[in-house]
Amino acid sequence: MGLKTNDRYLKPTIDALSPQVMAALANAAARLTSGAGSMASLRWFGTAAVADRTRLARKLRTMRSVINVNSITIGFADYAGAGAMNSPVARDANTNAMSLAVNAPVGIGGNVATLGAAMGGGNQDQRSVFLDENFMQLPDLLPLAPPPPPVVPANGAPVPPPPPPRVAANGWHQSKFNTLVHELTHLLLGTDDVVGATGDAYGTQRASQLAAANAGQAENNAENWGIFVEACGHRNIR
Ligand SMILES: [Zn+2]
Repeated sequence: MGLKTNDRYLKPTIDALSPQVMAALANAAARLTSGAGSMASLRWFGTAAVADRTRLARKLRTMRSVINVNSITIGFADYAGAGAMNSPVARDANTNAMSLAVNAPVGIGGNVATLGAAMGGGNQDQRSVFLDENFMQLPDLLPLAPPPPPVVPANGAPVPPPPPPRVAANGWHQSKFNTLVHELTHLLLGTDDVVGATGDAYGTQRASQLAAANAGQAENNAENWGIFVEACGHRNIR
């Protein structure tokens, strides 16, 4: 089971990303639990409290085990979008991706309760992520912030170690990795696309602003999950 694609164009990308995403989900959960991911948790979820990290880690572990025992199809959105069961989403030049539980009563996204019912029904190929025109243009990973200027120590003082790298949040940064995780959290955690103070909280800048402004909304925002799992789980940074 796991992430599948029937699209030959997508297959190398998905085959490369799939094990990385699964490893990152486990690693991010472990780092939340141990505290090693506290700075990343603060940055992308607005909290590093033990109770919050414990809940976030549990969601990541649940998500990973659900992917392990179910088949989730990754495909391209359909050009026509003319209602066929396996191609219900029209392609959109301004969209990275969408996710859809085909047999669920909700439209885009789905929620945990709906998925739980669907998964009990034996339709294990009905949950799909539809990648769209923009996806293949995205960089594999988010850019890093430029390093700060070196600190010149006072006479005799030891040279401080350089700060660890971190993901850039100075603009609208997205990646294939964060987008795929973003879509999976819509399917498996019931996350939304939250509208923050400056519009849809997509991209690293708006996601970090949302986390600083409202931790609860950040936890409900798919983009914050995607960025967090890439930064903390895949790259061991914040
Ligand atoms: Zn979304």
